[in-house]
Amino acid sequence: MIYERDALKRIFDKYDEDRTKARMERDRRVKEVNEKYPQLLEFDRKITEIGIENFKNILDNPEKSEEFNKNFEKKLSLLKEKKKNFLLENGIPEDFDEVKYNCEKCLDTGYIDNEKCPCLIQKIIDLHYEMSNMKGNLHDFSEFSFDYYGDKYIEKLDMTEKENMQEIFKKAQNFCEDEKSKNLLFYGGCGLGKTFLSSCCAKKMLDSGKSVIYETAASLFSDYEDYKFGRREGSFDETNELITGADLLIIDDLGTEVTNPVSVQFFFDIINKRTALSKKMIISTNLTMDGIQKKYTERLFSRLYESFEILHFIGEDIRIQKLKKEGHKND
Ligand SMILES: [Zn+2]
Repeated sequence: MIYERDALKRIFDKYDEDRTKARMERDRRVKEVNEKYPQLLEFDRKITEIGIENFKNILDNPEKSEEFNKNFEKKLSLLKEKKKNFLLENGIPEDFDEVKYNCEKCLDTGYIDNEKCPCLIQKIIDLHYEMSNMKGNLHDFSEFSFDYYGDKYIEKLDMTEKENMQEIFKKAQNFCEDEKSKNLLFYGGCGLGKTFLSSCCAKKMLDSGKSVIYETAASLFSDYEDYKFGRREGSFDETNELITGADLLIIDDLGTEVTNPVSVQFFFDIINKRTALSKKMIISTNLTMDGIQKKYTERLFSRLYESFEILHFIGEDIRIQKLKKEGHKND
């Protein structure tokens, strides 16, 4: 697992390193150019000289300061013009003595007037991609296809399978955009797009700069128990911080793990902590509502019922549909 605090430190260390490198690179370039063209130093010396001269003149005759300044400006622009021409004639870039930062907006500090620079925001997005456990497995809402959901009528919902899916899709999109929307519980059989739709939500949130953690229930609970029962070294604190602190937590495949009172309590705590912090969650499961109640206690079930919008995925296993299509192609 990648821990955000360490990773952020690495990002800022890299900015420091880049700034130092850029300054050293500038010094090296200036030294090289000045050695080759000593005349350039002469321009700089003259510029300093007229500056000092102007300063002295004003001190001696403050009443004439306006005239001195005017005169100084004239000489200065003349010298600068000469220097510019010299650079041009010798094919030296005009900005050879400036520090070249990777990001000219924030000068490799990550901030512009206390606001995050777009380059830092992008680094944080990249980091969140890494942290999510979903890199390479993320999808865009635009990739979601309704073709796999048919016109079969679902009586209890008074709509077709496709219409049901369109409703769920809309709710998932809204979930990513609306800060106050309820958590989502996706339930239904295998291969109905639950994980796919979760990953669309994950991508949407990640791209808007939010942090996302994806865990299968099996690995989340077994990790926890490994630490809890001392089967694994170290502490669970940082992982716990990620699970509680991420802007979106996705728990996939709830129900496939072996449960015991300890893991049920852990699950209950996660939901309570995140609800208290108004942090978003998506849980997907192949279990029925009855199955959840039996496996995780009545108390946990009613907690889920309160804080989640329960969405029933109905249809025919997409993987099987794809296989059938492949079959026909090969007929
Ligand atoms: Zn920047």
